[in-house]
Amino acid sequence: MIVVGLTGGIGSGKTTVLKCFQSFGVPVYIADVEAKALMNRSKIIKRKLIQLFGDAAYVDDTLNRPYLSSKIFNDKTLLSKMNAIVHPKVASHFKRWLKKQDSHYVIKEAAIIFENHLENQYNYIITVVADEDLRIQRVMRRDNTSEEKVKSIIKNQLSDKEKIEKSDFVITNNDLESAKKQALEIHQQILQDINKK
Ligand code: ATP
Repeated sequence: MIVVGLTGGIGSGKTTVLKCFQSFGVPVYIADVEAKALMNRSKIIKRKLIQLFGDAAYVDDTLNRPYLSSKIFNDKTLLSKMNAIVHPKVASHFKRWLKKQDSHYVIKEAAIIFENHLENQYNYIITVVADEDLRIQRVMRRDNTSEEKVKSIIKNQLSDKEKIEKSDFVITNNDLESAKKQALEIHQQILQDINKK
């Protein structure tokens, strides 16, 4: 099965673009959503996260995401410890999901691909980009957060330039109609490529 990775910085519109591919009939997997679900569902993950973060990791048996985010934001060691608990479980969940798919290819949205040197897990990588001022406005509106907060997250991420250099395809999502068109062209290109092989 051909696996396409879809990545991009905060507010670039990964999930929005992913939905375009879904509308073309491509099965889609959002690593972040599945990770969150597993963090709420898996007893083993829960136990390990409570060991790592304390009881405040869960409120009413539900993951306390703002608390975890605030803890890991400036603490890379804690972040890698959390990833070591969650990532292997998401990877095996993805493998099981992949076995059930019946299509030419699938797309997996993952915010972090290049940062963790996971390029080899994908046949193609698409990076979604958008102008920084648009990204800031989008996230401020969506998450009801401040400009400073979004800017500091952007600063913490790998730059668009670095991602673009390592990608097979780039989608510029400054406006939705144009992004849809670019997504369709890439979809057709991938299908053509697969048929040649
Ligand atoms: P994150 O990294 O934060 O998960 P993301 O890259 O997945 O973000 P989305 O959630 O798809 O980005 O988009 C961020 C916000 O911007 C959403 O509220 C979405 O509806 C809006 N948005 C995305 N693309 C566009 C667009 N082309 N025009 C207007 N609004 C958009």
